[in-house]
Amino acid sequence: MDTLKNKTLYRLSKSCVGAAESAAVAAVMRSEFLGMGTKVKEFERGLEEFLGRRVVCVANGTSALQLALQACGIKPGDEVLVQSLTYVATFQAISASGATPIACDICPKTFTIDLDDASKKVTSRTKAIVPVHYAGGVGPLSDIYAFAKNHGLRAIEDAAHAFGTTYAGKLVGSIGDVAVFSFDGIKNITSGEGGCVASNDEALIQSISDARLLGVINDSNQRYSGERSWDFDVKEQGWRYHMSDLMASIGIEQLKRFPDFRSKRQELATRYVELLQNEKKIELLQNNYHDVVPHIFPIILEKDVNRNALRRNLLAKGVETGVHYKPNHHLTFFGSKNYKSLVTTDDVFSRILTLPMHPDLVRADVDAVADHLLSEIVN
Ligand SMILES: *Cc1c(COP(=O)(O)O)cnc(C)c1O
Repeated sequence: MDTLKNKTLYRLSKSCVGAAESAAVAAVMRSEFLGMGTKVKEFERGLEEFLGRRVVCVANGTSALQLALQACGIKPGDEVLVQSLTYVATFQAISASGATPIACDICPKTFTIDLDDASKKVTSRTKAIVPVHYAGGVGPLSDIYAFAKNHGLRAIEDAAHAFGTTYAGKLVGSIGDVAVFSFDGIKNITSGEGGCVASNDEALIQSISDARLLGVINDSNQRYSGERSWDFDVKEQGWRYHMSDLMASIGIEQLKRFPDFRSKRQELATRYVELLQNEKKIELLQNNYHDVVPHIFPIILEKDVNRNALRRNLLAKGVETGVHYKPNHHLTFFGSKNYKSLVTTDDVFSRILTLPMHPDLVRADVDAVADHLLSEIVN
């Protein structure tokens, strides 16, 4: 909770960092080595211990997705199935790999990819599916994997919202083909900017650790021992997408704090559900907040609610809200060719509203936000 001109401001989301992160950054500053070195290695080992899988850290979640797609052999001419209701980062990462993102509809209960719609869009060029774990929920993940198997597709999970979420008792990123996380400032944990790829596929992890350093073969290991390659070879397209020690030092502290972040986010979401589930003008996502660690908390408003007016009135009371997201098939770059409407996505987009969710809120803040919301829409 922040105050603005003596009025409480319930921020939609924010970075939750403190003395531990500041001290860690200051220590890297004092070392006079800010680039990629031992801190990145330490953060990767921490994430590997947490997820029980191989992990490679990169500059952000978007580059993590792009490198994961590239390492899966996705290339120009290929098609990748993905829900339209996601941040444009997912679409840009697919398009950066040279492939075409094929916009699919969503299930109305979880806002994850609608497999019936996706199956109609499979062609001989389809090579992968990118399930987006919207708001932290994964939907019917085992059905998604069965679909991928049936159609011979790689599955690259966009788990940017879902760090810490479990499915059938297992952490997202500890199961499946490939999972990608984002550590941008407002995600479930942050390293300032940053992201990672988690997988059991050793060759894929090796390929990404080279590709993130301009494709210089085995440069990662050199840097972890404080050295630099000079007599090197490059065998594929690489990018300048590695993580810095400055970023990793923040991530290391955030990972230690994650158990608190997780229970806080789950507690706040559970409270929102208690307060809003019986309100006729509001629909909620069907997520179980024992398993799901919510990154955002979207609600769906009844058609007769004027969302713009509601957002203005709530902001006047200090409640920030958001709209996640403008669907990608509405964007000129991704939608204008062969535009087709997506029934559930377009309906959801017209009525969706995201409420404040971050670990520095307390239960009383959620109560206040719900009070303001209900007093605006119930009359
Ligand atoms: C944040 C986000 C990304 C990309 O992560 P960055 O670290 O910001 O590049 C990808 N997909 C979704 C759904 C996101 O919310």
